[in-house]
Amino acid sequence: MDTNETADIRPPSFREGLSHALRTLGLIWDSSRGLTLIVAFLTIIVATTPLAAAAVSQLIVDSVIAAIDTGTSADRETAIIWVAVEAAILTLLLGARRMMLFFKARLHAELGYAVNTLILEKSARFDLQQIERPDIQQQLVLARQHAANRPYSLVNRLFSGVQNALTLVGAALLLFSFSPWLIALVIGGGLPLFLGDLLFSGTAFKFYTGRTPQMRERSYLESLLTGDALAQERLHYGTGPAIMDRYNTLFSWLYVKDRSLQARRAFAQTALGIVSSMVFLGGKVMIVLATIESRISLGQMTMLVTLLKQGQSAVTGLLASFNGAFEDILYVSNLYALLDTSETFVTGGPSGQQSDTASAATAPRGLCMTDVTFTYPGQKKPALDRVSLSIPPGSRVGIVGANGSGKSTLIKLLIGLYTPQSGQVCLDGQSIAQWDRASLGRRIGAMFQPFTRYKLSARDNIAAGLGLTAIDDKDLFEAAESGLAKDLIHDLPAGLDTRLSKRFLDGRELSGGQWQRLAMARAFVNKQADILILDEPTAAMDPLAEAEFMTRDFGDKTCILISHRLSNIRQADLILVLDEGRLIETGTHETLMLKGGLYARLFHTQAENYKNS
Ligand code: ADP
Ligand code: MG
Repeated sequence: MDTNETADIRPPSFREGLSHALRTLGLIWDSSRGLTLIVAFLTIIVATTPLAAAAVSQLIVDSVIAAIDTGTSADRETAIIWVAVEAAILTLLLGARRMMLFFKARLHAELGYAVNTLILEKSARFDLQQIERPDIQQQLVLARQHAANRPYSLVNRLFSGVQNALTLVGAALLLFSFSPWLIALVIGGGLPLFLGDLLFSGTAFKFYTGRTPQMRERSYLESLLTGDALAQERLHYGTGPAIMDRYNTLFSWLYVKDRSLQARRAFAQTALGIVSSMVFLGGKVMIVLATIESRISLGQMTMLVTLLKQGQSAVTGLLASFNGAFEDILYVSNLYALLDTSETFVTGGPSGQQSDTASAATAPRGLCMTDVTFTYPGQKKPALDRVSLSIPPGSRVGIVGANGSGKSTLIKLLIGLYTPQSGQVCLDGQSIAQWDRASLGRRIGAMFQPFTRYKLSARDNIAAGLGLTAIDDKDLFEAAESGLAKDLIHDLPAGLDTRLSKRFLDGRELSGGQWQRLAMARAFVNKQADILILDEPTAAMDPLAEAEFMTRDFGDKTCILISHRLSNIRQADLILVLDEGRLIETGTHETLMLKGGLYARLFHTQAENYKNS
């Protein structure tokens, strides 16, 4: 996949943002109550202890001055006691900060795990039609990429927002006793930096999301240059330098844009930082003058200067959390959009046996389609157009048609992986939509096109046909034999337990045809399945083996074979001929040959080729 960046995230409204933030807090609360409470408690300590320290600093200075003035040992002791109190407060602050780091790291890990689990479970519940949707794919990629960080970052910003707000309120209360003007100075001093951030966060977000197509392109080019599976063609055709050129052009474009944005941001921040400092210095001058005029004590001066500084940085911190939370919420809203996508998955339905309803008992058994039309999302032309067919149990069915004529789509509809836009698919008289996936999985063994190459063991590759359950070696070998994979497994260094990827230690890589044999074994491993489907097993099967599939005794199992080798389809009880999504001919070899249509023409052409070769 080359989609790994933000595309079109719509900024959520303030209310949505707030509800996302609360929902994230709910997630963290559910995933670990104890930790949340501990972090909340530590936040309060970290927010309030600096204020206490500032207040004590006043007492220290005043008691030192008193001790100098009077010289009594009582005053000296008082000064020492206040110093000890300050030390205790600072130790508490230090400890609380350290503990908070530790507990926040744990919270981070737990929330990341919880969010990842939610995403994976959601993804597993999507049906094929949903998981193939580009918008859902995009949401999934984005959600997975940011699962570990964004939700935590949002929570962290909420905590530090609360921490700064508490500090600010405390500082404001203490400053107010001196002069309400100081509060204005605190806020006025922090505001310029925030405004600078705000100004640029809008631009930056637009910039970073606006260039997403380029970012995607960049990572795709990177994968072309580094991927092992892509190396063969790159080396042979020498496309490397040209790809590198494109990469460089793209990189300089991105870099120049990025640099100018960063430069403007840095300049603005410096200028606004100077304004902030001037405001702070103005406040300090006020306090110093008041001290010189003896309106406040030296101790009070110390405290007020400290509070002014703490207050200002609380304002900056508070507003920065606000700003950062805005960006986190954009990503988190993608996550919630994904989690809130409704699922169409059926979990009830017939148990795999015939349904006990009266209508089903009299309905014909086997597979049938009535007037089925299916169009892929975003396509105009239907992939299947008003197809009706009936496949009685135990029949041998061959499906033929040019590439893209809709054969594989027909299979996916027959086994309920797609829902048609109109018309109906039935299994044993029950709409396929009412069957649950698990029982369909038990009844149907299929070799798909494309099939999955599990980079797991050979054992897992076959057992995947029974949901990766534990299966006896004897049964696995039997399936391997049916899939023509027995010899290949015997040749593997650790037999069934060989890891099938060279990326793992002692792993082996298979050829395309070998993979196909394993996929075929997978289709055969479930002995209970009464419907077998092979979608173009051509590379794995030699012509004779494929012919045998049509004539072999599978008892009363229904066998469906999609093949371009018409000589192998010849023996089928029923041949379906597809052309551009329409079922144009059905019948046996004999009736179709008599008819003299597309099938007959194709058959003659292939027969000629065989004769000539
Ligand atoms: P066949 O198996 O006969 O070669 P398919 O059933 O795979 O043909 O494809 C039928 C048509 O549907 C083709 O035009 C193909 O491009 C289109 N198609 C197949 N799979 C998808 C998909 N996942 N999304 C969109 N279009 C698809
Ligand atoms: Mg196909």
